[in-house]
Amino acid sequence: MNMKGMNDRPSKMLLIEDDPEYAYMMQQMLAITPGAPPTLECADSLSTGLESLARGDIDVVLLDLSLPDSWGLETFDRVHACAPQAPIIILSGLDDQALAVEMVRKGAQDYLVKGQLDGNLMVRAMRYAIERKRAEEEIRHRNEELMALNALSTTISQSPNLDHILHAAVDKVLEVMSIDAGWIQLLDENTGLLSLAAHRGFSQKMIQETKTIKLGESMTGRVAQLGEPIVVNKISDDPRLSMESGSQENLHAFAGVPIKSKDNVLGVLGIFSRSPRELSVQETQLLIAIGHQVGVAIENARLAQEASEIEILQELNRLRSELIANVSHELRTPLGLIKVFCTTLLREDVGFDREMQQRFLRNIDEETDKLERIVDNLLDLSRMESGRLRLDKRPIDVGQLAQKVMDTMKMDIQPTQHRFVHDFPTIPLMAIIDPKRIEQVLRNLMSNAIKYSPGGGTITVGGRGDKRQLLVWVRDQGIGIHPQDLERVFDRFYRVENETTQRVRGAGLGLSVCQGILEAHGERIWVESTPGTGSTFYFTLKRMKPAPEPVDALAQRGSESVRGSESVPCHQAVGRVDRGDGM
Ligand code: ADP
Repeated sequence: MNMKGMNDRPSKMLLIEDDPEYAYMMQQMLAITPGAPPTLECADSLSTGLESLARGDIDVVLLDLSLPDSWGLETFDRVHACAPQAPIIILSGLDDQALAVEMVRKGAQDYLVKGQLDGNLMVRAMRYAIERKRAEEEIRHRNEELMALNALSTTISQSPNLDHILHAAVDKVLEVMSIDAGWIQLLDENTGLLSLAAHRGFSQKMIQETKTIKLGESMTGRVAQLGEPIVVNKISDDPRLSMESGSQENLHAFAGVPIKSKDNVLGVLGIFSRSPRELSVQETQLLIAIGHQVGVAIENARLAQEASEIEILQELNRLRSELIANVSHELRTPLGLIKVFCTTLLREDVGFDREMQQRFLRNIDEETDKLERIVDNLLDLSRMESGRLRLDKRPIDVGQLAQKVMDTMKMDIQPTQHRFVHDFPTIPLMAIIDPKRIEQVLRNLMSNAIKYSPGGGTITVGGRGDKRQLLVWVRDQGIGIHPQDLERVFDRFYRVENETTQRVRGAGLGLSVCQGILEAHGERIWVESTPGTGSTFYFTLKRMKPAPEPVDALAQRGSESVRGSESVPCHQAVGRVDRGDGM
């Protein structure tokens, strides 16, 4: 900012005084003052004085407080409010020390008593007033700059978001320097290109044209290349600016400073003015200081990103080790058993009868199935994570599917300990699903229901539907799950630590596979459980609209009314009818 000073042209003084004789005397006094006396403009009332002030070319005001249209302190307040930047000297007929002090406190530069004045004294008072006002303005402006720097430091230290910091920096610079447009261009060391990271005040065209700037090209490119500030007060005179569309944007002045961290140029902070503007040394220094702060912020953000990348790598490493540990542990048991059965069968010194051989081979077959399941689970999980799980969907009666799974699972249980209940309505519950995948979900849930109810009990597989949705559940009367583990049981490799789970084999993959399959269907799964009483795993499926039944089929069903799924009779698979929750 450049204040108009006494060196540029004779100062212009506005005398607001209603006594024409005194105004005339002042003019005479100034005329015989040696040097370059100020030019004097006179106003005989406050209103005409304010009109002159509104033009903005007055360097100092000489003010009589008693005017026809205003009086006393109010006169000062109104002049000060109209031109806060203009120094005001009070002219008074009274040699009143108390009033003089009060006026100076209020912002007047001086208080002069009319009878004690001569031309020299007048000019000196005026020069001092202008200089004092200039110094005051300077301090106020510096203060604003420091506050801006402080505000920026706070933003930088509090915001983890680099994008936010860069935009805040541009906004602050524009605000404090009262400038029209500004940007931050960040340098890519590998490509040597600067790219626009934050901007304010440019047209869309200019933004498009300056999205990337080559190192060394145009003003911004040169600032980045030299690592030094460049200040251009008249863009049109500087051929270096041709690339920055300055003329089309009507930009007059440019200043750019490098954004540095430890002597490395990371980018450029540039500001542009649409009116003629000379950047002061202080303003350039402020810009450099902000550039430095932004450099620190970028460096911090990069370090934080590197740290989080290292954390992610460490986490990946940990997961990989966990995976290897879990998988090898799980594979070892069936592999060990297969090895034992094979070695035994191969013994030449022992002759096994056919029945024994069959038993061993059955065991090998079972263990191989377990191995296959673990590997399948792992492959499924990896497909789910990469979005490669393909579903082969078709209309399926979910009740029938559950019955089929239950029938095969029955072979694995001891009928004396566990019993299965199939709790579905007699009418088909149709859904468009991948039957193999939903079968896998039911198998995993039923297998868990068996594994985690070592004391036996009833395992119910049930389903109900309303017009749009099916709810399917698998309920056991087993050990249950503590509330703090309910969410986590669906995490990969998560196994609840307790006596039972230690005795039961498992890789902690089954439930995450179930969740992945249901998510791929656009559905969800959850669990409700009471420790010591049992667990119920629920999942949803979208119901397929049933095709209208032929009339004779309806007639055949006679009085069997279907008023809603809750009232549909249940199909009893084993033992007594156990109706689960309705929907
Ligand atoms: P796995 O059974 O192979 O350990 P899952 O992913 O199927 O892995 O299950 C994760 C954990 O959730 C199990 O280790 C067990 O602690 C708990 N869990 C699963 N189903 C039940 C259930 N029906 N009753 C009690 N706990 C269960």
